[in-house]
Amino acid sequence: MRTSIATVSLSGSLTEKLTAASRAGFDGVEIFENDLLASPLTPEEIRARCADLGLSIDLYQPMRDIEAVPADEFARNLRRARHKFELMRRLGADTVLVCSSVHPLAVDDDALAAYHLRQLADLAQEFGIRVAYEALAWGRHVSTYDHAWRIVEAADHPALGTCLDSFHILSRGSDPKGIEDIPGEKIFFLQLADAPLLAMDVLQWSRHYRCFPGQGGFDVADLVRRVLHTGYGGPLSLEVFNDVFRQAEAGPTAVDAHRSLLVLQEAVGVATPPAPVVPTGVAFAELVTPDAEPVSALLGALGFTRTARHRGKPVDLWQQGEARVLVNTAGAARRDGTSLAAIGLESPDPAGAARRAEALLAPVLPRRRAAEDAPLDAVAAPDGTELFFCASGRPEQPDWRADFADVEHAEPGTPGVHRIDHLALVQPWHHYDEATLFHRSVLGLHAQESVDVADPYGLMRSRAVTNPDGSVRIALSVGAAPTDDTVHAQHIALATDDVVAAARRFREAGGRLLPIPANYYDDLAARYEFADGELETYRELGILYDRDAYGEFRHCYTPTVGRVFFELVQRDGYRGYGAQNAPVRLAAQHLTR
Ligand code: MG
Ligand code: MG
Repeated sequence: MRTSIATVSLSGSLTEKLTAASRAGFDGVEIFENDLLASPLTPEEIRARCADLGLSIDLYQPMRDIEAVPADEFARNLRRARHKFELMRRLGADTVLVCSSVHPLAVDDDALAAYHLRQLADLAQEFGIRVAYEALAWGRHVSTYDHAWRIVEAADHPALGTCLDSFHILSRGSDPKGIEDIPGEKIFFLQLADAPLLAMDVLQWSRHYRCFPGQGGFDVADLVRRVLHTGYGGPLSLEVFNDVFRQAEAGPTAVDAHRSLLVLQEAVGVATPPAPVVPTGVAFAELVTPDAEPVSALLGALGFTRTARHRGKPVDLWQQGEARVLVNTAGAARRDGTSLAAIGLESPDPAGAARRAEALLAPVLPRRRAAEDAPLDAVAAPDGTELFFCASGRPEQPDWRADFADVEHAEPGTPGVHRIDHLALVQPWHHYDEATLFHRSVLGLHAQESVDVADPYGLMRSRAVTNPDGSVRIALSVGAAPTDDTVHAQHIALATDDVVAAARRFREAGGRLLPIPANYYDDLAARYEFADGELETYRELGILYDRDAYGEFRHCYTPTVGRVFFELVQRDGYRGYGAQNAPVRLAAQHLTR
């Protein structure tokens, strides 16, 4: 299907918005009036720019407060409309959006509204223009899509149809089933937006919190299915007012937007990108660092052994049980030092996973070549993390480990850690929703609920994405301010069956655990009953404790090296990530910084 996006959804000047929409693969745009008013280009120049970029102008919007007003007011409205229709002719736009009136003098009179819209449509027809009438969720007298349709039906004019907007319909809790009663040719336009489920004034909700389909809590796919059922043949168009997207760079936002429509089209069965290939495990986590020493010392104290070295590059493989960490001093390290730059994901079909990612607009990275010159498939996540699709130990597939030569005399001791429990990535502050949609749609992971975590200097949000058996868990978090992605650290959580023993071993090997304040343990004592001595042990070592409906969680933290720290976790049935304890951890990390 054709895809379109309202210019209000993107940041920048009108031409920046158009360029971003075109680059991301959209077929058309809705020109938002304010963007045109603020542009130094003439309508003819905008039309030519769109044509150059391969964009059609699918809608001009919005025209407000037209119908059911006093006669003198309506006469002024027709005069205003004539001006706008002349402008639209110069732009080459043939459909105008008219929102239901919020005018203080508008009356509750459907017959008058229909009469006015019919007159407007008569005028529009002279210009070859169609009028799409949309019910604003906060319209003065018309606020539901079925009401708007009844008025359009009563007006009965070929140049008058309705515009459906998923936000206005779903935010009011209207049943979208009635859409199927509208003839498809009378649905002149379809605007799509999702939104988080919030209890707030609907106008504020709409103006600030809309997001792309799949990023919020609405069932946008169900609504689109019903619209397609009518025979609607127009574009799927995004109209998203969002405070964050207004500030974020237009290019990545447009890509994120177009990805949301690709995923939506897949959900409703009108597009079939390559099927998702869900990762089945974590092959490795790769740290890039300008200095291997501090992180190697930390890994050694945690019980890791340097088991292999890359044949061609300064990259070491540290291993313990099934937990593998690559330490790379060849990569482009950030100025603030060590960072988690890449993740190897075990994949049942690496090439298929890369095809899926590419179809959903993920940047495919130049293939890293394994020793036998075998290509390894990799894509970049929105935060720049490289994701490698690995087929470890499968002879018919290129194996990343073929790049590595064993280190002699490497003696892995009794492992206290058996695998990577989860990886925590800090997203650039304006890419949180994008990151969730990316991991869900491109990798086929399941997204859990977003939680708020109080940091002493701001509020963080965090959301985990996981595969079905929990062998891949990635926690995506974002701070409240643009600088937070450099302040907050990423981490690698290591699974152990006995966190007390692992913590003791780490200390005996010279490691220091993050000190946790005594007040925390007093609170734990108030909340839970522990066996004799148990709490004292936690207090002594700095182990934190949490419990959910499924089980218990015990965990502790190493100091931060560059932007990365390690967490030792003992997960006994527990399904969360210790969000309850995160504010204490963040405060402790600020103190030690
Ligand atoms: Mg709308
Ligand atoms: Mg964690």
